[in-house]
Amino acid sequence: MDLAFTPEEQQFREDVRTWVRAHLPADIAHKVRNSLTLTRDDMQNWAKILGKKGWLGHAWPKQFGGPGWNAIQKHLFEEECALACAPRIVPFGPVMVAPVIMSFGSAEQQQKYLPGIASGEVWWSQGYSEPGSGSDLASVKCKAERVGNHYLVNGQKTWTTLGQYGEWIFCLVRTSNEGKPQTGISFLLIDMKSKGVSVRPIKLLDGECEVNEVWFDNVEVPVENLIGEENKGWTYAKHLLSHERTNIADVNRSKRELERLKRIAKAEGIWEDNRFRDEIAKLEVDVIALEMMVLRVLSAEKIGQKLAGCGGPIENSWQ
Ligand SMILES: Cc1cc2nc3c(=O)[nH]c(=O)nc-3n(C[C@H](O)[C@H](O)[C@H](O)COP(=O)(O)OP(=O)(O)OC[C@H]3O[C@@H](n4cnc5c(N)ncnc54)[C@H](O)[C@@H]3O)c2cc1C
Repeated sequence: MDLAFTPEEQQFREDVRTWVRAHLPADIAHKVRNSLTLTRDDMQNWAKILGKKGWLGHAWPKQFGGPGWNAIQKHLFEEECALACAPRIVPFGPVMVAPVIMSFGSAEQQQKYLPGIASGEVWWSQGYSEPGSGSDLASVKCKAERVGNHYLVNGQKTWTTLGQYGEWIFCLVRTSNEGKPQTGISFLLIDMKSKGVSVRPIKLLDGECEVNEVWFDNVEVPVENLIGEENKGWTYAKHLLSHERTNIADVNRSKRELERLKRIAKAEGIWEDNRFRDEIAKLEVDVIALEMMVLRVLSAEKIGQKLAGCGGPIENSWQ
């Protein structure tokens, strides 16, 4: 297994690095470098800059306007963004729902939704979890009842990250109680400006409101917003979760934060303490081990293999 990058891959990295450093606004990089709060505008500005370049959907195939990069190129792009202190791409649109729309949506749905996701104009949220339906996701209760040409949606989602900014939300909804719980779930796209949708922030320990409750009270959703077939939503939901492999490891953000910790330790005068440095060394070993794991997964992906234990659906990278 070859864990080294080829000269072409190194050149690719160089090109991405040059572009990212030239286009990432300094004030946004400053906030990320110092863990300051990013506003909605900060996140969306960067998304739009990437969108203009065609890199917001950096994992998209060319057919849908993406750059058509392979697994290594995607990894190098993510690495360079992290090292330059770019904000994380808010994944709900470009990373999560877009691949589902590409694979299971109709041509009309692809034309309607993908451009706004690719450009960073439209903010999406993820409506999977509910109170009592987290790990046991198949037990979702939020109900969508077909009435003529629309679904009537009633229920609640929770932990909706940045849902206060959401314009659209993709939801797992219950359309049947027959058979296994997994077979009665559908995948619905809901306009968050619809009558009957309300978003309530959940205040966290740090005082911030990054996650929300989203309530649906007799919300009318046109049937054309259903992805694929009714009651097949579980299959689409798993497809979405399988779109993350190495990104969740976040090696480069960990490296960046370790460097920051060292800077603080030096400024505070504790860097010379051997016991403190032992702890830092342990963390560095962990990060290197994680990096090797990521490189092994990428190397296997490059030659079309799945590494044992690394190929299944895993939770999304935002969490
Ligand atoms: C910061 C953050 C952001 C999030 N953003 C979103 C979002 O945008 N959209 C969204 O839909 N969801 C979101 N989530 C929800 C997230 O996906 C759920 O938290 C997750 O699925 C776990 O569900 P839960 O919190 O209800 O925990 P539970 O399912 O109640 O689990 C609690 C604990 O019990 C353990 N456990 C559960 N079942 C078993 C079992 N059978 N055997 C052994 N142990 C078990 C779990 O491992 C866990 O430690 C977010 C969560 C967080 C923390």
